[in-house]
Amino acid sequence: MNFDIHIIGGGLAGSEAAWQLADAGLRVRLSEMRGGGDSTPAHDSDQLAEMVCSNSFRSDDAEHNAVGLLHQEMRALGSLILRSADQHRVPAGSALAVDREAFAAEVTRAVEQHPNIAVVRERVDALPEHPTIIATGPLTGTGLAQAIAAETGQDALAFFDAIAPIVHRDSVDMDVAWMAARWDKGGKDYINCPLDKPQYEDFISALNAGEKTEFKDWEKDTPYFEGCMPIEVMAERGPETLRHGPMKPVGLDNPRTGRWPYAVVQLRQDNALGTLWNMVGFQTKLKHGEQVRIFRNIPGLEKAEFARLGGIHRNSFINSPRLLDRELRLKSKPNIRFAGQITGCEGYVESASIGILAARFAAAELRGETLPPPPVETALGALLAHITGGADADTYQPMNVNFGLMPPPDTRAKKADRKKAYTDRARAAFARWLEEMRAPELA
Ligand SMILES: Cc1cc2nc3c(=O)[nH]c(=O)nc-3n(C[C@H](O)[C@H](O)[C@H](O)COP(=O)(O)OP(=O)(O)OC[C@H]3O[C@@H](n4cnc5c(N)ncnc54)[C@H](O)[C@@H]3O)c2cc1C
Repeated sequence: MNFDIHIIGGGLAGSEAAWQLADAGLRVRLSEMRGGGDSTPAHDSDQLAEMVCSNSFRSDDAEHNAVGLLHQEMRALGSLILRSADQHRVPAGSALAVDREAFAAEVTRAVEQHPNIAVVRERVDALPEHPTIIATGPLTGTGLAQAIAAETGQDALAFFDAIAPIVHRDSVDMDVAWMAARWDKGGKDYINCPLDKPQYEDFISALNAGEKTEFKDWEKDTPYFEGCMPIEVMAERGPETLRHGPMKPVGLDNPRTGRWPYAVVQLRQDNALGTLWNMVGFQTKLKHGEQVRIFRNIPGLEKAEFARLGGIHRNSFINSPRLLDRELRLKSKPNIRFAGQITGCEGYVESASIGILAARFAAAELRGETLPPPPVETALGALLAHITGGADADTYQPMNVNFGLMPPPDTRAKKADRKKAYTDRARAAFARWLEEMRAPELA
């Protein structure tokens, strides 16, 4: 079959993108290397849209949760991934969990049977010259990864994420923490959380005792050591290591004492909106529950709400804020779009949602039209804006959808009502956007 557009990777994002484009009447070639003699270290089958770990698409609460809101927006855009998930849902409270095999079989059947899609079981190792969406995920084949690195520059493609936790700015106690830069150089750009000697010693003991996540066999020989060592590994090397590393207090006068604290935890702004702040140098393999428990003992972070917790995994992703334009096109080679986790979004749902957007931008372009981007008040728009420019390119790491990616609503409402204020505003903005594109109304 001749095709209008080529999609590389038949995972969550690529399957969704293929479906959206085919449904818009465009002919798609979908290249998937599994089933053609190749696989990844995490996939077990040849099915499209295989969920490699948990069987959950997380919260389905569209009123109080950003990922639930994203589900709702995707359903309104005819998402194949959400439709198949709804069909194969298993009981999981307010979460959307699925029978993973039935789910993947459903997506595979729908994609393979679509008359506008040709699924080709082949590995692609070079960047094509025709219109293409690359959706090869966190475990992109080595040849293609090398081709992407050659096009974008080696340091623009990461092979591992080393994620430090990210905190919502409005949950930091600024009666304890203060804004300053070391030696007062530049602006007062960092939030500084001070620890005295007993607090520091307790913190180190907690890190040493904390439960850690193990590396998988194929992740063990990672080149992250030294460059971005997990804090608990630094703590194991000796009680003073962190005080000479990311918790160094020198040059940071605490205005409440007039002295340097014994140790400090610094947070740096992580998005242009100023709503999210990352804990500098705090990449960690501690289990998520342990991170919350231990980090809430840091003075100023007792009530911290985390937009993202730390982690270190094998994960290929590009520096999207630097490399991609607002329509997910590679600036240096605009026939190529990226979708899914390789753009630096994180998770099944987010990956599929970026698949929808890449497909719809591509479909509009192929028809000689322009698609207005979804507003930043919506879950889709917030994620897209973060990936394509809102995030700080220098510290770019994978991100889940969360309310911190949206501009704060103009309300002093209580926490639960505040979430509702975000989602009510999002629904209104999304409905206006749908109208603008003359798409079906949000149910
Ligand atoms: C070990 C592990 C555990 C994870 N656990 C979770 C979890 O519990 N929950 C969650 O939400 N997310 C999890 N993720 C993240 C998850 O991978 C993504 O959320 C999601 O699968 C990304 O979708 P994607 O379409 O971008 O990539 P994928 O779903 O990985 O799809 C990419 C596809 O591209 C194919 N491919 C790669 N290179 C080539 C090539 N050169 N030519 C042709 N085809 C190619 C691959 O075979 C694959 O089918 C996990 C990731 C890993 C690695």
